[in-house]
Amino acid sequence: MTADPRTDALRTTTRVNAVPPSGIRRFFDIAATMPEVISLGIGEPDFVTPEPILRAGIASLEAGHTGYTSNSGLIELRVALAAHLERRYGVQYDPETEVLITVGGSEALHLVAEALVEPGDEVLVPEPCFVAYPAVVTFAGGTPVPVVTRFENDFQLDVADLRARITARTRGLLIGYPSNPTGAVMDRPQLEAVADFAAERNLYVVSDEIYDQLVYGQDHTCFAALPGMRERTVLLGGFSKSYAMTGWRIGYACAPAPLVAALRKIHQYIIMSAPTAAQYAALAALTDPAAATAVRSMAAAYDARRRLVVDGFNRIGLPTFEPRGAFYAFPDVRPTGLSSDEFCERLLYEHKVAMVPGEAFGEAGRGFARCSYATSIERLTEALARIGAFVAPL
Ligand code: PMP
Repeated sequence: MTADPRTDALRTTTRVNAVPPSGIRRFFDIAATMPEVISLGIGEPDFVTPEPILRAGIASLEAGHTGYTSNSGLIELRVALAAHLERRYGVQYDPETEVLITVGGSEALHLVAEALVEPGDEVLVPEPCFVAYPAVVTFAGGTPVPVVTRFENDFQLDVADLRARITARTRGLLIGYPSNPTGAVMDRPQLEAVADFAAERNLYVVSDEIYDQLVYGQDHTCFAALPGMRERTVLLGGFSKSYAMTGWRIGYACAPAPLVAALRKIHQYIIMSAPTAAQYAALAALTDPAAATAVRSMAAAYDARRRLVVDGFNRIGLPTFEPRGAFYAFPDVRPTGLSSDEFCERLLYEHKVAMVPGEAFGEAGRGFARCSYATSIERLTEALARIGAFVAPL
């Protein structure tokens, strides 16, 4: 008797089935097959990694550094990172025990969820948010609880909205400012209110600050540096955005030693150590003054593009709040009478511009679309002209 080929031996788990594929990739994959498309869809710098960083990565290979590093990452990199965070934010981490180098901020997010989320736990997640936040909580068996942030309130997180969503099962909060997809930045007093709330309810806070060096016209506030927060916060970051290093895959998690020991344990079994050449490159990103200069010049370029797109969208008739960080604008497309899905689909097929429907970032994003302005002024200008031509008759 031959075996029945229709078997459910490879059935996947409910927690994996519960997570939809990323709504960003869907549009990106379509756009990639259409050469004339201007993609404002993907959250990735258009710059090549700055020269001194690139050279350091290559030199490390030529010097024969082709093996594993310590599980936690190169000690020189952890020392440089701790010094960098202390210099910028005044927050102190012991490089030996409180810093873990990961494969991008993405790995760090998964490790934290794996280490902190017990099945059945609820984690508050302000939306619209980066697509991975609810996904990592669900993969870990927890329940992400969306907390709405609104256009009318500059997408700031309001403690009253957090309070309204808390239950006996709430254990923590996962925030990310500057925000992907809105570009919102939380001002210090508002973050302090969130901190007070976390302390009052004894919640942990996972703070993804991967865009910390892409903030325009103000200083970034590091959540872990707020009074009393270091002991209940996991600070996540990475090199992908500020240093134009998405392909190198280096991120980090900083937290009190017992939690970092748990993260390292998982990391050790699934990764061993982050790519070695990329760690040497990241070390140069933190220590070579020319790299810091390059970061400032890329940030200045994003700032000029930011002003161009925000003015452009508002002039076209798509109300857009002024983002103060990252490289995204989040126009309101409701005045067109189209849903954000219809808007993005027609814009792509009829006018060859790719944007991402806001609901890819949670229900709170419905009616909006995300525009990544990490592309040249020329392409942005052309894209705005196409969007204007699309919107005018609507
Ligand atoms: N956090 C946020 C808010 C992001 O936008 C991204 C990338 N889009 C990441 C984390 C992960 O980046 P990486 O894994 O490249 O460090």
